[in-house]
Amino acid sequence: MPMNHNFLENWPFDVLFEAFTQQGEEVYLVGGAVRDLLLGKRPGDWDFTSSAEPDKIAAILAEAFPEHTLILKGKRFGTIGIDLSDAAEDVSFEITAFRKEESYTDGRHPEEVAFQASIFEDVRRRDFTVNGLWMDRHGAIFDAVGGFSDLKEKKIRCIGQADERFDEDRLRKWRCVRFAAQIGGQIDAHTRDAIIEAPTTDGVSVERIQIEFSKMLTGPDAAFAVRELKATGLWDDLLRRSASEDLPEPVTEKINEVPSDLAMRLAWLLQNGSADRVRAFLKGLRFSNQIVREVTVLLNFSTLDCRDIVKFKTALRQMGAPLFEKALALQKVKSDNAQNRVVFIKIVNDHEPIVPSDLAIGGRDLKSLGFHGRQIGDVLARLLRWVYQSPKQNQREALLERAKAWRDQENKNEGKQSE
Ligand code: ATP
Ligand code: MG
Repeated sequence: MPMNHNFLENWPFDVLFEAFTQQGEEVYLVGGAVRDLLLGKRPGDWDFTSSAEPDKIAAILAEAFPEHTLILKGKRFGTIGIDLSDAAEDVSFEITAFRKEESYTDGRHPEEVAFQASIFEDVRRRDFTVNGLWMDRHGAIFDAVGGFSDLKEKKIRCIGQADERFDEDRLRKWRCVRFAAQIGGQIDAHTRDAIIEAPTTDGVSVERIQIEFSKMLTGPDAAFAVRELKATGLWDDLLRRSASEDLPEPVTEKINEVPSDLAMRLAWLLQNGSADRVRAFLKGLRFSNQIVREVTVLLNFSTLDCRDIVKFKTALRQMGAPLFEKALALQKVKSDNAQNRVVFIKIVNDHEPIVPSDLAIGGRDLKSLGFHGRQIGDVLARLLRWVYQSPKQNQREALLERAKAWRDQENKNEGKQSE
C-alpha cells in the first residue's frame, strides 16, 4: 500500500511522542489518521490515544507545548485537543486516554466510559476495522482487528458483532456507507446484512445523519452511497424521519459528474421533486437556510434557455451569477447546452447590464422627465428588459429617448381615456 511520506517529512509530532515516552506513557496515532496515511491521503484530523489518564495527558501537553492552549473536550471522555497551526501549516490534534466503553442504552451515548484500558481494548471499541489501526513514534503500524487487510481490499467491516455494534450506536450505519463510498470500496456482507436487518436510526439526531449524508454526497462516489442507502433501507428510514415519504426517486445517474458542491449535488439528486417537497425534506434534515434556498432555486436548472434572452437574463439577475453558474454546470451534466454557456460568458465578459444599477441612467433622471413614485421603478425595470435585448442601447441618450417616448405615449393614452 502506498504510504505518503510527504506528511511525514514535516512530521510535527516528535515533541509529542517524546513527552509521553519521557513520562513512561504510551501514545499512538490512531483511527482515521492512520487509515488516511495508508491511503496516501492527508488526514483531516490527527487523533492520538494514550495510556495516561486525562489529567496526566493535560499535564504532559501543558509542559511540552507551553505556548499553546489546551482545549478540553468533555472531561468525561478525556479528550484534550491542541492547536499547533502556524502560518505555514494547519495542524491540530487530539489526545484521548485509552478507553473501553460499556453499556449503551439509547443507541447513541455510552453510559460509562472506563479509562485504564489498553490500546487493544481501545481499538476494539472503535467502529470499523479500517478505523482500528494505530501507529507508534517510529511509524510502525499495528493491527489487532484485521483492519490492514480490509483496507487493502477496501472493505468496511464492523469490529466485533455487527448487529451489536450498530445497536450500540446507530449512527455507525451511516458512517459505514460513507466510509465505503469514500474509499471506493464495499461493505462487508455480514456488516451490510446487519444494516438491512435493522436500518433504523432512532435515537440519533437528524443533524448527525445530515452531516454523514452531506459527506457522502460531496465525496468521490455519491452514486454508490445513495444506491447503498436505498439498498440497505437507510434511505427509507431517512424519509420516514424527515416526514418525506412522498419524495420522488432520487437521481443517482451521473451524479458523480456533478461538481462536488453540496447544493449542486442535492439539486441533482432531488431534481424530480417539487420545490415544496424538497424544501420540506431539507428542512426536516436541518440543512442550513442557505443550502435550502440554493437547492430549491437550482431545481429549475433545466429551464434556463438563452433563446429567450429576457427570461435568461432575468433569471441571472434573480439568482446572482454564482448560483446561475451552478445551474449551468448542472445543465451541462444533464444534456450539454453549450449555447447557454457561451451566452453567459459573453454577458460576463462584455459586462452586459443585468441589474438596475447597471443602467446608464437612474431614478433621478426619470424624475426630471416627470416620472414619479412607483412609475420610476416600473420604467427602470422596463428599460432593463429593453437593454437585455440590445445591450448596446445602454447609453444615457438612448435610454432617455426611450423613457420620453413611453411618457409621451402614456400621456396620449391618458388623454384619450379622459376624452
Ligand atoms: P473522518 O474524520 O474522515 O470523518 P475518522 O475515521 O477520522 O473519519 P472521526 O469521526 O474523526 O472519523 O473519528 C475518529 C476515530 O474515532 C475513528 O476512526 C474511529 O476509530 C473512532 N470513532 C469515531 N466515531 C465512532 C463511533 N461512532 N463508534 C466507534 N468509534 C468511532
Ligand atoms: Mg477524523
